[in-house]
Amino acid sequence: MYSPHPDPLAEGDGAQIALPLRETLLGWYGEHGRSLPWRRSRDPYRVWVAEVMLQQTRIGVVIPAYRRFLRAFPSLARLAAAQEEEVLSLWSGLGYYSRARALHRAARALHARGECFPRSWTEARRLPGVGAYTAAAVLSIAYGLPYAAVDGNVVRVLSRLFRLPLPDGRGEPYHSLAGKLLDRRRPGDWNQALMELGETVCSPKMPACEHCPLAAYCEAASHGQAHLYPRRRRRRAPERVDLRMTIVRDREGRLLLERGAFPHLKHLWLPPTEIVTDAPRPSDGPCRARFRHAIVHRDFHVRVHRRTMTQLQLRRLLARADGVERRLFTAAELDRIGRSSLLTKGLRYEPAESEKREAIEGSAPSLPPRPSPPGTDRAVPSRSRRSRIGPSNDTPIVNDSMTRSSIPR
Ligand code: SF4
Repeated sequence: MYSPHPDPLAEGDGAQIALPLRETLLGWYGEHGRSLPWRRSRDPYRVWVAEVMLQQTRIGVVIPAYRRFLRAFPSLARLAAAQEEEVLSLWSGLGYYSRARALHRAARALHARGECFPRSWTEARRLPGVGAYTAAAVLSIAYGLPYAAVDGNVVRVLSRLFRLPLPDGRGEPYHSLAGKLLDRRRPGDWNQALMELGETVCSPKMPACEHCPLAAYCEAASHGQAHLYPRRRRRRAPERVDLRMTIVRDREGRLLLERGAFPHLKHLWLPPTEIVTDAPRPSDGPCRARFRHAIVHRDFHVRVHRRTMTQLQLRRLLARADGVERRLFTAAELDRIGRSSLLTKGLRYEPAESEKREAIEGSAPSLPPRPSPPGTDRAVPSRSRRSRIGPSNDTPIVNDSMTRSSIPR
């Protein structure tokens, strides 16, 4: 049958290199593989948690979060018994909270059946949030089953080794090739070794070919073309969305948050946040700051306001029956919820304590806005281009040399 992707291992030298390439990479991994907390156990629950956390998130951010999470939920049974609020709280800083919710749902489903992570590919793929990458990673690492895990790091390494084009809609030719290269005696180690090479040596922008154990096999390096592979897809320009975030506190200093109103982060608590298409209204009060926050393909431009509300207005708002949850949070309670970066950034630009009290009491005139550079209400330093328009900044900044992202299968 015709294949648009020639198989680099099908004939000639290609067929001869699989074995020495495996031995070389596994030898390198044995010597240079990092000692990461999730590598100390083959317990399927722990491997699963780590693999979910590592998707789209830097390892440096995952390590403390993983330890914290497993201290609170050391077993699948403990995770299944937890409240969603607790799970989201312990996911703070990792972003992509839908991963945490899916992991929690899957743990509950398995626990209700008295099972742990399944050994069957089909059963694993039926679990909420378990895609081809997660299933292959957990099955190979925890159970030693021969499934090749293909994430962005693996694509980059294979693309350079064999000078391959970008994956097609089904992730080919990478899934087939990774399956052929897989070391069937040590599939978990093999998968981790290939990802480790992509994370630490064969990085996207500056591959350290001079330190690479696979340099002798690498077509791109031998042609001086490592930087050309994999070819980049043009990214879709992010959609700009203007938001108005309103900070309201009661006279005890508790913060008003709501959940369910803002369509892009429906399951997280936020100060009242609305999408705006109109000019600022006088009732909004002064804009205290502006900041930008990127999430997937959206670039939020947020104006932070404070709103003066009497206690009666607040009580009415809290009692409103419109399908949106509203609550007042003390500082201690805020520490126990899953905090999106959007909430954290909004609070960073909240007016000072004296201004808040005046706003709540309604007894003092508005303070003049703080000095700001032309064109902004207040300067908000941007961290990097990636932090503004990367795949997500509700989460740690994505660096695809250090994260695991699955590709279509
Ligand atoms: S030789 Fe260079 S380009 Fe090739 S796999 Fe190693 S680091 Fe990557």
